[in-house]
Formats: sequence, structure tokens, C-alpha cells
Amino acid sequence: MKIKNICCIGAGYVGGPTMAVIAQKCPEINVTVVDINEKRIAAWNDEDVENIPVYEPGLSAIVKEARSRNLFFSTDVDAAIDKADMIFISVNTPTKTYGIGKGMAADLKWIEICARQIARVAKNDKIVVEKSTLPVRTAAALRDILDNTGNGVKYQILSNPEFLAEGTAIQDLQNPDRVLIGGDVETPEGKEAMEALVDIYASWVSKTNILTTNVWSSELSKLTANAFLAQRVSSINAMSELCEKTGADVNEVAKAVGMDSRVGPKFLQSSVGFGGSCFQKDILNLVYIAKSFGLNEVADYWEQVIKMNDHQKRRFAANIVKTLFNTVSGKKIAVLGWAFKKDTNDTRESAAIYITDYLLNEQAEIVVYDPKVKEEQVYADLDYLNTRSSKENRSRVTVVNDAYKSCEDSHAIAVLTEWDEFKQLDWRKIYNNMLKPAFLFDGRRLLERKTKEEIGFEFYAIGN
Ligand code: ADP
Repeated sequence: MKIKNICCIGAGYVGGPTMAVIAQKCPEINVTVVDINEKRIAAWNDEDVENIPVYEPGLSAIVKEARSRNLFFSTDVDAAIDKADMIFISVNTPTKTYGIGKGMAADLKWIEICARQIARVAKNDKIVVEKSTLPVRTAAALRDILDNTGNGVKYQILSNPEFLAEGTAIQDLQNPDRVLIGGDVETPEGKEAMEALVDIYASWVSKTNILTTNVWSSELSKLTANAFLAQRVSSINAMSELCEKTGADVNEVAKAVGMDSRVGPKFLQSSVGFGGSCFQKDILNLVYIAKSFGLNEVADYWEQVIKMNDHQKRRFAANIVKTLFNTVSGKKIAVLGWAFKKDTNDTRESAAIYITDYLLNEQAEIVVYDPKVKEEQVYADLDYLNTRSSKENRSRVTVVNDAYKSCEDSHAIAVLTEWDEFKQLDWRKIYNNMLKPAFLFDGRRLLERKTKEEIGFEFYAIGN
């Protein structure tokens, strides 16, 4: 079976880049990305490709190449579903903020709405692909809705979790470590659907890197991969605190440990804590699933990864307060970096949000600079926490578009995202325009201690 028309529901950080790369690599397939968010679709269609809503190195060039050729962005969800042979669901699946499983389980509301919409619209057989990260057995729920509310057409449901890392999404999509496709391996129709998706990826990925499994293995692999990655960060971060007490340097420890080929060198960078929409959400999901099966030890084990991460953010903020003579009340603090990591404009679960919130509770005045995050996003992130009124957030937090300006007349600087450009700043100029003593807190181990101390900074870095 050859796929001619793809529809992707959800034009976010997963759907947008993934579909752009499929469209680029498979010019014979029409790819339509739909979203109910009109502003977002308008931005994807903006004549100036630099205005697309997701920032990823290399993405705008691909959109420029494929848009209007075989890549389309639209708000007409029904039309795209109707036309498609294959439908990817990549809508948001945030942690529930209400009711049973609040703060832990994934909220599948948006997935269910999609399923019902597909069932209502579809007039011929479709392959439905779960792209969003979903709890194990969501495919079964999808099938239940599609089979019982549809127009009698047949559905094949596949799980194809996305492993891209934001900031390197295009590279990861063009050159994935592996592609995972879960499906109904027991039936010929199931196998045929899996083959159809394998064929798409095989346009640019070697078949040895395309794994096929049953649906539940595929769903659980995604949660497991993210849990393992987050666990590495919490593990090295736990060591960073011990390093600060003992005189060891976490970077030296990480290097020595990472050279053991069984451990490996990647993902051992200590920091102010991981962020992003996936790690925390997926672990919480895992914890919830484990608990629901009565596996309390398993749940407690993974929950600790989140607790460590929360602790790391909190202790970084607390250290700022302690170092500034136990009060930051009325003091201006510059926050450099708002995105959860470099080379993305995604701010979900970013450490900067929580550290700023902590400092605002201590009555600090915050001035934020991030090269890719818009002012309105900073306020939206703070408002979402509901700690104080949005009016107060706006009066106590300023967002500027210049790193030097954010540091002017400040008591302290907190580097919270590892943007390369922060390394190149004229730190002497920054120092000269600050109040003294000038404190510099490096939450990413981005800056060199020696040169900063020579300038005169009181320098604090995680794990050193
Ligand atoms: P992710 O990081 O998983 O891609 P995002 O929040 O960036 O998550 O993107 C999800 C997108 O899905 C949002 O733009 C949202 O508007 C869209 N969406 C959610 N529900 C629906 C729906 N029923 N139909 C179309 N789009 C939807």
C-alpha cells in the first residue's frame, strides 16, 4: 500500500518539524498539517519563513523548500482527515490538572477529541498513527472510539513515538538513531499498515534502523527512553550538590565517569535541572501507570528523578538568595535565557520559570533576556503558575531584547539557558554596569570561572 496523502493533527513542536522532514524527503506524498489554533497556522504560512512558530535550526529552510509544493498548513481539519490515507495525531497531552490522576496522569482529552473527529469524518479506511507521547494502552482506547463511533470504515492504529530532541530536531529527524513503529503484528492488515509507514521512513532511513514491535512495546519504549534520559540528568545533578560540598568538580567527575564505555559520555551535563514538555510529563505518567498496577516500588523509584530535579531548581534559587546576603527584596536580578534549552523557543517546564517564580516570592525584580523567546511567552509562563496576579508579574518582571540591557544595574545575573551567544558577551562591559559586588550564577556550566573572577565577578557555578 502506497501512501499518497498524509494529514497531521497538531502543528506544534512535534508535528511541525516531523511533517516538514517527511514532506522534504518524500516529495511524492502530500502532507497537510492541521491545527485548531488559527494564529499558529497563520504563522506556519507566513510569507517570511523566519516567522514560523517553532524555532529549530534548519527548519525554516525546509519549510521554504516544501511549503506549497507538498507541505501545507491549514485549519480545515475535516477536509484534511477526509483526504488522508494516513493520519498522524500529534496534539498536546499535558499532565492532568484536575480530578483523578491530577498532577500525574496524561490528559487524553485532546486525543479523544481527535479520535471522535476522525470517526465522524472518515469515509474510507485509514491508518491512524499516534505520534504524541501517550500512556501505554492509549492505542486500545483509540481503537475503541474509532470502531464504535465511526462510519463503518476500517482503521489500523500504529504507535510511532517521536524521539527527536528539541534544538536538534531536524538533524535528529533526518538522521535518527532509530525509528520505532508499533502495530498489530498479529494480523495481515496490521502488518500491511506497518509496512506502509516503514516505506515512508525508508525513503531516507536505513531499514536496519527501523524497528517494528507490538503497539504496547512501542508506547512503553517512549516513556522508558525519556525516563532513562531524565534519570541521567538527575543522577549527575545529585552529584553536583555533593561536588559543591566536597571540592570535587562535577564536570571532571562526569568526564571520568562518561569515559567508561558502559556509561557513555552523552547527557552527563550538570545543570539547573531539566525542562521541556516531555521528561517530567512522561515520568509522571510512568509513575501513575506503575501505581495503578500496585507497583509502588517502581513508582517511587522513578518519582525520585522528578524530586531531584525540583530540588536542583530550588536549591539554585535558594543559593542566590543566600549569597546575596539573605535577601533579594527590591534587588534587580538579570535572567539570561528563558527557553528550556538552547536552540529552541520552547519554554515548557523551563527551569527559568520556576527560578524566577522563587525569586519573585522573595520580592526580587527580574529582567529577562532570551534570544528566541517572546515577551508574551514569558508572562504567559509565569501567569500559568498562578502564584500571583498577572498584573503583578508584569510589574515585577521586565523582558528586554538585549543581554547587556538586562544586566544593567543588576545585583546578580543568573544564566539559565546555555545559549552559545552568552559565552561571547563582553563580560567586562557587563561587570562595569552592575552593582557591586557583582554576582554571577551559572546554572549551565557555560562560562569559564577564571576569566570571570579576574574581571571581578563573585562567581557561582553548579557543581563547582
Ligand atoms: P507537541 O510538543 O507535542 O507538539 P504542542 O502543544 O506544541 O505539543 O502542539 C500540539 C498542537 O496540537 C497545538 O498547536 C494544538 O493547538 C493542537 N491541537 C490540539 N487539539 C487539537 C485538535 N483536536 N485538532 C487540531 N489541533 C489540535
